Amino acid sequence: MLQLLLEKKSIPTYLKTIIFKKGRRMKNIVFLTVFLSIFTPMITQTHTGSLTVICGSMCSGKSATVIEIVRRALLANNKILVLKPAFDNRKMLDLEIDPLTYIPSRNGNWVGCIPVKSVQEVAELVKETNASIIVIDEVHFFTPEADAFFEIVRSLVQSGKKVFVAGLELDFRGEPFGPMPKLLAYADTVMKLTAICSKCGADTYCISQRFVNGQPAHYDDPLFVVGADQYKPHCKSCHIVRRG
Ligand SMILES: [Zn+2]
Repeated sequence: MLQLLLEKKSIPTYLKTIIFKKGRRMKNIVFLTVFLSIFTPMITQTHTGSLTVICGSMCSGKSATVIEIVRRALLANNKILVLKPAFDNRKMLDLEIDPLTYIPSRNGNWVGCIPVKSVQEVAELVKETNASIIVIDEVHFFTPEADAFFEIVRSLVQSGKKVFVAGLELDFRGEPFGPMPKLLAYADTVMKLTAICSKCGADTYCISQRFVNGQPAHYDDPLFVVGADQYKPHCKSCHIVRRG
């Protein structure tokens, strides 16, 4: 898909993505390109780079926040690039397009994006598009390249880019996740979001509780598991990791 997108340079529509707001289809379909116009005071009032980190457990509204940031950024003449790791192929919404080509929110909204398989691909796309605003969702999936991912984010900020990243700051064990600790330490702005604990109902900072066959996952279970496992937001009192 990425190759396909990059090869169709003469076709303007390949640059288009769509923000779709459930129930208000025509009014809220907005075409967004890597060369689109965007505006927010935070973005346009200075020419220095910055990093905003959006974090929180599953169901905390990270992707909804990303989508809102992009939506609010549509009104000025900057260039924006929206990316997500190509590992995140969950089909959350009932859309007839490749799940890798959009960022979905549980509230039904979504925004088109380009999937990337590596930090190098991020670098290549940034260079190719010369976007001034870089938005990357689910950045914990860059854990295998955590240091390299942090370094490219830092270099983008140093070069004057406005960078927005979203991801889980804690893994299923409740431990710092991949590139997130460095990103949080380097951030200009941190948006740490709460969720509703699925066990006790508290609206607080949660951890993504992984279940395997209905039981809390074991500490030694792999960090990334696709498919079989289930996750729920649990507060720190309700979060369980089996050990021993
Ligand atoms: Zn709880």
